[in-house]
Amino acid sequence: MSEPLGYPVDLHTHSLRSDGAYEPAEVVRRAAARGVRIQALSDHDTLAGAAEAIVEGERLGVRVIPSTELNTESEWGDVHVLGYFLDPQDPALEERLRWLREHRGRRIELMVEKLNALGYPVRLERVLEIAQGGALGRPHLAQALFEAGHVPAYDAAFSTLISKDSPAYVARVGLTPHEAVRLVREHGGVPSLAHPGTVTDLERLLPQLVEAGLAGMECYYGSHTPEATVRYLRLAAEHDLIPTGGSDFHGRGAHGAPLGGVRVPESTIPRLEARRAKGHSRPEAYHSVAVGTER
Ligand SMILES: [Zn+2]
Ligand SMILES: [Zn+2]
Repeated sequence: MSEPLGYPVDLHTHSLRSDGAYEPAEVVRRAAARGVRIQALSDHDTLAGAAEAIVEGERLGVRVIPSTELNTESEWGDVHVLGYFLDPQDPALEERLRWLREHRGRRIELMVEKLNALGYPVRLERVLEIAQGGALGRPHLAQALFEAGHVPAYDAAFSTLISKDSPAYVARVGLTPHEAVRLVREHGGVPSLAHPGTVTDLERLLPQLVEAGLAGMECYYGSHTPEATVRYLRLAAEHDLIPTGGSDFHGRGAHGAPLGGVRVPESTIPRLEARRAKGHSRPEAYHSVAVGTER
């Protein structure tokens, strides 16, 4: 158990409640063992691990910030929005997150139903097997159609059956980046743009997201080169965004850095908290978080 220590602040981590490999409490234990003292558990589209992580964090001296990461659908590339200081007991927020979780799988289910009705029998079970537990998408469906012999090649599934304007197509449902930022704000959280390197046309999108209420940007991230970090810090300063950062630890394969593996200044936390108190956020949400985490 002589793991080298990491840095004390990690504002981007995942558990089994989304696509990470460990239970929430286990992620906190591993973070604590690495010297992390402030950790955001930021599972995709859910706060389900927060309560368990907070309890374990209290035991081990790790402050756990209830958070989520929202993936969005738009022409801006992979825009992921981290929402900090959200209330796991906010029923209206949970309703919206559940809607997001359901739509990811539901879209593919609907397309399977359409294909079956059109005379291209495909089993949803097989599509799920192909996805191996990952978030379902059309590539998994295309593979199943190919295997079932309905199309001569994988790519043909797209061109004849499941592309936009094809008979079995079902439109994707998801948040735009702007909606994701507003969702976090509307529920009293503080939104930060995750790993900006995956965004298309960042310099054009940023002012729009700032207008929607964006408060931070993940300038410190494992895969950023030093030059990229400097560029993001400059952009953050230009747009009055708080530089945030984290490991994006998943515990699976090469995805993300080790827990506490990215240096994030401790002053980030009070700066984020100050943004929660002003702007669009509702101060009462803060109190319900505090009450909700008391035993
Ligand atoms: Zn992400
Ligand atoms: Zn992530």
